[in-house]
Amino acid sequence: MSENNVRYAWFDGAVVPLEQAKISVHNQALQYGTSVFAGMRAYWNAEREQLYLFRPFDHFERLLQSAALLRLDLNYTPAQLLQSLIELLQAEGVDCNCYIRPLVYAANESLGVHLLDSRPELAITLMPLRDGGFVSKAGGMHVCISAWRRVEDNAIPARGKIAGSYVNSLMIRSDAMLAGYDDAIVLNNDGHIAECSVANLFLVRKGVAITPPVTADVLEGIVRRSLIHLLQEALNVEVQERPVDRTEAYLADEMFMCGTGAEITPITRVEHRPVGDGEIGALTSRLSQRFLDIVYGRDSRYMDWLEPVFALQRAVG
Ligand code: PMP
Repeated sequence: MSENNVRYAWFDGAVVPLEQAKISVHNQALQYGTSVFAGMRAYWNAEREQLYLFRPFDHFERLLQSAALLRLDLNYTPAQLLQSLIELLQAEGVDCNCYIRPLVYAANESLGVHLLDSRPELAITLMPLRDGGFVSKAGGMHVCISAWRRVEDNAIPARGKIAGSYVNSLMIRSDAMLAGYDDAIVLNNDGHIAECSVANLFLVRKGVAITPPVTADVLEGIVRRSLIHLLQEALNVEVQERPVDRTEAYLADEMFMCGTGAEITPITRVEHRPVGDGEIGALTSRLSQRFLDIVYGRDSRYMDWLEPVFALQRAVG
């Protein structure tokens, strides 16, 4: 792929030049926020000249479930979504790490305020990540507890990756940044910790990894689910999915956020209080190393979490 210039998008059922992927100003998703999206990553293994998609079926399944919450009945199966993505990555000739943004949007152009008779369409765009991550910070993050509350399941479900609900994430993150923090932990409406602005949260207390349950108004994170498995099966660490009090964040020995963008990002300070000794925790480092080995295809035990783009392309093509 040519430096950082992305040339193509998936739009209207085909790979098209990026400048042709345009939506009308009357579009319902633009007017009311009625689109859902996925945020996926592909990792480039230079030695093997192979591009690995991390758990694409899980992402596409969640995308279709998010769409279903908005009555958007997209006419694609997860396998067809994967095929479309591979065609796009192939056309682009991606040879570096890459962020992938599949978007399902209501293509209707009426101003009627309802979700009936929606006309869902799919767009997929790419963003090369030549310099590594886009959330992480050396030495760990300093977070606050946001004054905003998480969108709740009976208003706009956080479990769906719904574009409109990201106003909530943007408020949380921007206000934290303006106050001098890197990000924020956000509480749900019952006052327990939900997650960070665009990532799930884990605390470590006395060797036990603790994370809010999927009923705490969080996105059902795919990295979160992967880490629960790794902690239990590969690192032999107890994991508790349970309501987490705000003050547990002040007393944690280690803390990190996790997600496709964040990968595993250590949190070393909460509102000017050091987390543990204020350094990146040992378990956080071990888990992060393990995770990176897996996503780059260096751990043969977890190859079923990856889809190799170029081998699959040859097998299909
Ligand atoms: N919570 C929110 C609000 C997010 O936007 C994300 C990023 N997708 C996550 C959690 C982490 O989810 P995942 O591990 O599936 O990327």
